[in-house]
Amino acid sequence: MTVKQDLLRKIPSVDELLNTPKIKALLKDHPRSVVVDKTRTVTDGIRKAIAKGTDERKAKDMAGKAVIVERIKREVDEYVRPNLRHVVNATGVVLHTNLGRSILADEAVVAVVEAARYYSNLEFDLKKNARGSRHSHIEELLVRLTGAEEAMAVNNNASAVLLALSAIAKGKEVIVSRGQLVEIGGSFRIPDVMSAGGARLREVGTTNKTYIRDYKNAITEKTALLMRVHPSNFRVVGFSHEAGLKELVDLGKETGLPVLDDLGSGVMVDLEKYGITGEPTVQNNVKDGADLVTFSGDKLMGGPQAGLIVGSSEFVSRLKKHPMARAVRIDKMTLAAMEATLRLYLDEKEAVKKIPTLRMLTERPQSVARRAKALASEIKTAAGKRVDVSVRSDMSKAGGGSLPLLDLPTTVVCVDPLDMNVNKLEERLRFFDPPILARISEDKLVFDVRTIQEGENGLIVKALTDIARNG
Ligand SMILES: *Cc1c(COP(=O)(O)O)cnc(C)c1O
Repeated sequence: MTVKQDLLRKIPSVDELLNTPKIKALLKDHPRSVVVDKTRTVTDGIRKAIAKGTDERKAKDMAGKAVIVERIKREVDEYVRPNLRHVVNATGVVLHTNLGRSILADEAVVAVVEAARYYSNLEFDLKKNARGSRHSHIEELLVRLTGAEEAMAVNNNASAVLLALSAIAKGKEVIVSRGQLVEIGGSFRIPDVMSAGGARLREVGTTNKTYIRDYKNAITEKTALLMRVHPSNFRVVGFSHEAGLKELVDLGKETGLPVLDDLGSGVMVDLEKYGITGEPTVQNNVKDGADLVTFSGDKLMGGPQAGLIVGSSEFVSRLKKHPMARAVRIDKMTLAAMEATLRLYLDEKEAVKKIPTLRMLTERPQSVARRAKALASEIKTAAGKRVDVSVRSDMSKAGGGSLPLLDLPTTVVCVDPLDMNVNKLEERLRFFDPPILARISEDKLVFDVRTIQEGENGLIVKALTDIARNG
């Protein structure tokens, strides 16, 4: 018999493995189907590797029962862990699209749990003892905060725009400036959303310059809507011009056409006081007379994923009644988080303090610096012999396609792993539980504390000490 055959024969059967104490313990805690499946995957994998001709010593190591049992345990542990989980965002990108954009205020988190755990008056009017509307829970707040006549919420801003286009411009033309035909990321491209909504795009102007007369000249009996799109993730700078919202509203009044303003981010606090300029507030654009303003719940507003629609009663009520409104309706947990977030906006100071997105964007440089120094000294105390730690100034980003030109002065903690390649350290942190995401710059790992949450310093310190000790 060859060595290979001998080894293959030695691999324990699935039944034998399932009867070892360690796997029996796994069976107590986890579904049998998962444990059996992973046992099979591991043994099949080893069989294949040996058959393919892995070198003898390695093959011998693989085929040992204890080693196999350990591998099964690792595979099961990994499988039963939730796929969607907490990660530590040390990138300094506040609205990180890949990391879930906004995180919620505690008030909103509590509201989500309540809505999830108990029955609620989601669509029940307790006073009238009759069917109610899910929009009612947030409509008064949105109207009060934005100055609009009527408001509603849907699943996200992409569906808000789609709903508005379907309800108002289906089979007709929508005039948009060429400079605003943006792609927001993923697959939200204005021309595509337009055709999905059954409307025809009528581009006017040029990439860098569009005047109000360009809109005016394009209006025909087929026109249903004048649309403005916030360029979000990019800016045309230099020799450029866009028609202002007020000009569009005036043209709309003159010609009897409504104006849809897709604001994208939707700030509800004037961030200029905090040194963040150039982002129009929802209130402002409502005041300027847009018939419909749409914006995201989870960008600069700092709430859950949602699309908010505010504007004149005539048009918002048409959207509420449109059949597509049902297809894009907001879910009750989101609605609960949204209401709690909006309530915080009733007091602007509270909003800036308690809504994480606003808090992170407006945190003062001295405060960020203090937190960076604290993290650096914690790392030094715990792992100072194995890593080199320093702090330096850098820039954070708003992210989420918002405020692309904004650089927020920040202080970062730089970790040089000395005996380890920095790419390896980055990977080990990404594979940690919970995963920690940081940036590599000049052969150091860079942690921007702006986006690190309360209680997460300890996780970073623990990860770095574990990795420095065990490799
Ligand atoms: C982000 C954005 C959208 C899409 O909003 P979601 O909430 O991601 O669906 C649409 N329009 C503009 C201008 C945006 O910035």
